[in-house]
Amino acid sequence: MSKELIFGLVLIALLVLAPRLGLFGGGCCGLNRTKTFSTNAIYIANKICPVSGRQIGVMGPGVQEEYHNKVYHLCCGGCISTFESDPEKYSKIADDQFKAAKNNY
Ligand SMILES: [Zn+2]
Repeated sequence: MSKELIFGLVLIALLVLAPRLGLFGGGCCGLNRTKTFSTNAIYIANKICPVSGRQIGVMGPGVQEEYHNKVYHLCCGGCISTFESDPEKYSKIADDQFKAAKNNY
């Protein structure tokens, strides 16, 4: 085996393993929270972040927050603290937005 080949294999192995080891972080704000939600929680598939108003998925996979047994999508980890500061307000925005989006179909 040549040195170049071994170097190439090591590089490939690193590229494959790095995301699994969390070397690249996660989410747009570097926050990577793994949360467990209630088993009977309702998933609100809102497409717009109720905090920032941005479309979810544009800035990464987004994050999820549970409030009153409903799981809401937020565009990024930076919106979690804002959501948690007034979950009543932001969950209502997401509920209304989700209902409005449903009526369009
Ligand atoms: Zn955000």
